This record gives sequence, structure tokens and C-alpha cells, in this order.
Amino acid sequence: MKIDTSEGTLLLDALQENGYHVPTLCHVEGLVPRGACRVCSVKIGNRLQTACTTPVNDGMEVITQDDELDALRKQIVEMMLAEGNHFCPFCEISGQCELQELAYQFGITISNYPYLFQDRDVEASHPKLLKDHNRCILCKRCIRLIKDEEGKRIFAFSKRGSKLSIQIDTELAKNMSDELANEAIACCPVGAMLPRNKAFQVPIGKRKYDNISHNNSTENLRENNGEK
Ligand code: SF4
Repeated sequence: MKIDTSEGTLLLDALQENGYHVPTLCHVEGLVPRGACRVCSVKIGNRLQTACTTPVNDGMEVITQDDELDALRKQIVEMMLAEGNHFCPFCEISGQCELQELAYQFGITISNYPYLFQDRDVEASHPKLLKDHNRCILCKRCIRLIKDEEGKRIFAFSKRGSKLSIQIDTELAKNMSDELANEAIACCPVGAMLPRNKAFQVPIGKRKYDNISHNNSTENLRENNGEK
């Protein structure tokens, strides 16, 4: 299928504008992309590239979905599930979680990677936010999006390697408005950023992904993307 867009548009945006579905866990419209999650990887020629960081060129040929890409995306989701502590039945945002939804799309019931069961904490020092490090997939959405009135980032990476985590700048966050705290909660694709003193505000059964059928999900997407 052919699509028209202006040269330089980022491929993921161009595809979405033209009705193609390419999954992503780190992309936020309007923010500089970072290619952090790799879930939007597509094939351009013989190479895999992240659609969110690749500008469109005239005549570019792109495969957005095939068996290899499905397998790659499934592996990435499985790795995330094994790396963190994701216990969906106990999670506040089960049914609204983008990682869980992708796991359903790919028919994942258990990860093929060894579960690390890392010892991670829940940070509860902030008056408005709870930060559950067990569920963080390090997508950087909060780092890129949430800034104070002077444009300073409120979240940042801390430590390295398997200890890498997102920390809140307690000084800057002291004056965080309710609106900004809600924005931080809403930007998180998983249940790693939660409001304090509130839970299960949307009843189970009425959550974003509750009524989606996942029968042959990836095949349906391929058909919708004209790649079958
Ligand atoms: S807290 Fe949420 S938004 Fe921030 S990096 Fe972790 S998963 Fe992404």
C-alpha cells in the first residue's frame, strides 16, 4: 500500500496518520522520540529500524508487520515481562496497561525468558504519586514529558545496568500541581506511576482494553495494514 506524507515526517507518525497500526510503548506524540522500547521496529530494505526515530524518505519501502516482526515484538514484550515484576491480577491498572495489552495481542501467557524477580521497591515519599519500580519498563515517557514551570525535568534515570531506575527529583516535585501529577500518571504505559490515596477508580470491565477480542490479533492487524 502506498502512503503520502511530507518528507521528514517520522515514519511512525506517517503510518499512524494513514491508518496503519504499529505498536509502541515509549512513543508520545509531539515529543522527541527516543526509540527506547524498540517495539515499533519495522523493516526498511533488509534492515530493522525503529519507526518512531526514522524520518520518511521519498520512495521508502517499509514492511510494518510480518512473522519476523511479530516474533521480534513478542520477544521484546516477553523480556520486559521477565525483567520486571508484573503481576497483572494484582495490578491497579490491569485492563488499562499497554504492556499487558501487547502481551494479549501476541498471545503471551508466560515469558520464554527466565523471570528475574528483582528486589525492587515502591517509592511513596511524594504526596501525590506512588512510584512502583517493579513495573517500570524504562520507557522514558515521564522523563521526557514531565517538566516544572521552568522546563526542568522532574524525573530522571538513576544508577546503571540492572539497577537502572527512574527517580523523582524530590525538590522539584515538592510544588508539583495536581494537573502535572495526573499527567505523569496518565503518561505511564504500565502501573509504575500511581496516584496516592486512590485506587481502582475505573471499575474492572470498563477499562480501556477490557472488551477487546484478541483472537488472531496479529493476523487481523496484518490484514488491516494491507500486509496479508
Ligand atoms: S515510570 Fe512509567 S512512564 Fe516512567 S519510565 Fe517507567 S514505565 Fe515509563
